Amino acid sequence: MIESSHLRAAIVAMATTVSAHAEELTALDSAIGDGDHGANMKRGFDAVAADIDTIGAKPLAEALKAVGTKLVMTVGGASGPLYGTLFLTLGKELAANPEAYVAAYRKAIDAVAARGKSEINQKTLLDVLYPVADALEAGRSKADVVEVARAAVAGTKDRKAIRGRASFLGDRSIGHVDPGARSSLLLIEAVAGVLP
Ligand SMILES: [Mg+2]
Repeated sequence: MIESSHLRAAIVAMATTVSAHAEELTALDSAIGDGDHGANMKRGFDAVAADIDTIGAKPLAEALKAVGTKLVMTVGGASGPLYGTLFLTLGKELAANPEAYVAAYRKAIDAVAARGKSEINQKTLLDVLYPVADALEAGRSKADVVEVARAAVAGTKDRKAIRGRASFLGDRSIGHVDPGARSSLLLIEAVAGVLP
């Protein structure tokens, strides 16, 4: 059972790791995008962390929706609506079916795909989020799930971007890890570190 206390810890862990890796995310985005991913993610998760007392006081599903709303309002770029949709849908699904975490995660990433009009293997965060869903549904261990996510991020390096700003580069997008995939891994590692 995941509780609000876990979400509180996860918020702190996510904000901490995003902040610590902001320059790396910006460097990745500078290579194939517009170089704002680190600053955008840091602004968003700092805003969520600043609101932790309000968010943490809510039941889990409502708290997740609040995180999503805050991210939509603060992250900006393409990532704000995508990560916002992820958390908003997680909250909505868990409100309807409490404790159906894996099913909620699958619905949430499908919502992200719909929001971005994107699918797996287009060099986006979905390249990480989908393999993680498969691993969760297969009942893999937490360590395995994180390992799947790490391998998936590495796999974006040699892929050509089909969606997002990086797709404007065509073949020149090959050879760079996708910044959104990298930030997804940071969030997954942070959450895995605090969940039971
Ligand atoms: Mg960008």
